Amino acid sequence: MNVDLTNCDREPIHIPGKIQSHGFLFVINQDNVIVYHSDNITVFLPDISPNLLGKHINIIEPIIGKNEPPNFISQLLSFGKIKGFDQTNPFNTNIRGVAFHLIISVSADFYLLEFEPAHSDSATDVQKMIGRSIAEMLADKNLQNLLSNSAVQVKNVIGYDRVMVYRFAEDGHGEVIAEAKNTELPSWLGLHYPASDIPKQARELYKLNLTRLIANVHAEPSAILTIAANELPLDMTNSGLRAVSPIHIQYLKNMGVESSFSISLMYKGELWGLIACHNYSPRFIDYRSRESAKLIGQILSSALEFRQDEENQHTQALFKSAVAQLSRLMLKDTNIDHALTAHSVNLLNAVEAPGAALIFENHIHTLGITPTDLQITSVVAWLKNNVSDNFYYTNQLPVEFPESALFKNVASGIMVTTLSRELGEYVIWFKPEQLETITWAGTPDKPVETTVDGVAQLSPRHSFEAWSQTVSGTSKNWTNEEVKSVMRLRSEITYAINQKAGAIRLLNEKLKEAYEELDTFSFTISHDLKNPISTVKSYAQILLRDKGMNPQSVKILERINKGADKMNNMINEVLDYSRIGRLELTLSNIDPKPIIQDIVRDLLLIYDFDESCITIGKTPRIQCDPVMISQVFSNIISNAIKYSMHSNPPKVTISGTKNNHEVVYSITDNGLGIDIKQRPRIFELFHRTDNVGDIEGSGVGLAIVKRIIDKHKGKVWVESELGNGSTFNILFNK
Ligand code: ADP
Repeated sequence: MNVDLTNCDREPIHIPGKIQSHGFLFVINQDNVIVYHSDNITVFLPDISPNLLGKHINIIEPIIGKNEPPNFISQLLSFGKIKGFDQTNPFNTNIRGVAFHLIISVSADFYLLEFEPAHSDSATDVQKMIGRSIAEMLADKNLQNLLSNSAVQVKNVIGYDRVMVYRFAEDGHGEVIAEAKNTELPSWLGLHYPASDIPKQARELYKLNLTRLIANVHAEPSAILTIAANELPLDMTNSGLRAVSPIHIQYLKNMGVESSFSISLMYKGELWGLIACHNYSPRFIDYRSRESAKLIGQILSSALEFRQDEENQHTQALFKSAVAQLSRLMLKDTNIDHALTAHSVNLLNAVEAPGAALIFENHIHTLGITPTDLQITSVVAWLKNNVSDNFYYTNQLPVEFPESALFKNVASGIMVTTLSRELGEYVIWFKPEQLETITWAGTPDKPVETTVDGVAQLSPRHSFEAWSQTVSGTSKNWTNEEVKSVMRLRSEITYAINQKAGAIRLLNEKLKEAYEELDTFSFTISHDLKNPISTVKSYAQILLRDKGMNPQSVKILERINKGADKMNNMINEVLDYSRIGRLELTLSNIDPKPIIQDIVRDLLLIYDFDESCITIGKTPRIQCDPVMISQVFSNIISNAIKYSMHSNPPKVTISGTKNNHEVVYSITDNGLGIDIKQRPRIFELFHRTDNVGDIEGSGVGLAIVKRIIDKHKGKVWVESELGNGSTFNILFNK
């Protein structure tokens, strides 16, 4: 390991990094042999041998700790390795009559021995004031005041010109949210800084080493020397003297800052923000003051965590109780949409959004402030094609779905949970646009500049003039609590839907069974009734053949015969009626004229009616099941003929009219007419009006008509005046 450096040949020297030159550094390995040191040791230790790499640390112990016992470094190390170097740092030592702090830290297999001046540019007795500072800092419950108090207390402890609390947004950019400054300085409160101002690798470092000091941006850093064999770069994570990148130094210089100090603020292991301190002249603060400032940062971090947790727990509890309430409502209510939207606790209580829509079973139910139904439909169409996850949220919908810019005032943010993508069923919450004016410290564009030869190069911003930008098409963020709440609600809705689907399937099964039973029943009944009736009828006919029968008996037998026919007829009609419910419609577009003509021809024969009494007018085409519709016309036309038979002369007209949406057929007669009181009941099974006298009928025909027309989703109604005829109207949708 012996390297001769006296020839001043720096070739074999590897420079893994630099330190700030207000202190110096030795790095030793596990055997206490010096493996690195800073180039500036001779500035602080002029009488030291320049050839130290590879030497045991004890050869410099008399110089770096004049009043210390020999081996004091080994002793510090053994103690620190067991108890932690927090216990030994800083170690006060005296070098050539000047007080120094020795700060030891770990770097992989090595130990960093950093020497820094023990005096501060700050005159205050930090130890004394720290207790009071913390008490004052925590005096206020309000978060904003807590942050402002912290800035003030840090300024008291380290005495910088400007102390800012800087908070990172989700996209990595930062905002100054509290500040304590010298009165003559302009305020930077509310200014935003682009994410690139603090690069990612710097943030990672800030999580591990919680404070950083740049004592003087103008001081030339000192190189760290080692032997060429040491190819591994020295890990400077825990170093307090570590020099920062020249880009960052330039950045500070551009702002006019000559000294900078920052303390990390952590929230649940993540970097929440920084306490950033600027001084407009060089300023060194010693290890103890830095540690005190760090303590303030840590206390602020845990206070933030506590306050934030408290707030989160509160909102979480509110959301949870709303979801629990909704889940109870869904289980109680037969309609899920009703349960979610019709009560005082509804979808809006599950998150903090002013509007929500439930798209379920082909309906859009909206609550609060939402886009129009048409706009919601366009969002749903977009979701169907672009979002395959069950959850989706954005606070910049117009960026994802440009068409939505038209309604960004109500829906710049959406949170979506998919109930069924195939059916296009979703719950969507809407957050309005939040016009936010961001005042940037300088233009927020990436600090990339192009050099003369056209190569892009990272360089710090020069401009720090405030530059204002209004962010549009953006809503407030969706919080973790809201996401969790929607996830919970979704599983409750799916559970309820599955329960209901199960119940409906069960009902369907039962209904099918009931239909089958009814079929068998109807068939058995008709069979069992028809047999004895035909027996009755045949015996009556046999008896009638007896010519010696007296006229009274013949009359009775004829009535028995007629009654049997009527009974047979009725059984057939009831069977027809019960069958219609189960028949499937076979729709086609037909011209009903031939059907009507056939019916009329048959009826004229049966009722002995004069052809001239019947007029068939226009017969527009209709969309229907031809077999069923012929039954409809047959029933209504036969009624018209039957109930106008006694008019002198009877008149029956059949004709249809049409418009763009529907066709209406009217069958008019000049017969008995129907009493207004009885009109509503004529479509009921077996209902006959009082004025029919001995005109035959079963009261089933119109019930069949009604059933068939209902099945066609059409309408049937009657207009009539007692004694003056009736008009039956049938409406078909096109
Ligand atoms: P029915 O076999 O008795 O004709 P419907 O169900 O066809 O049975 O009709 C029910 C009742 O409505 C009839 O009994 C009659 O009282 C009344 N009705 C139906 N059509 C007419 C009509 N064109 N004129 C007068 N009354 C009618």
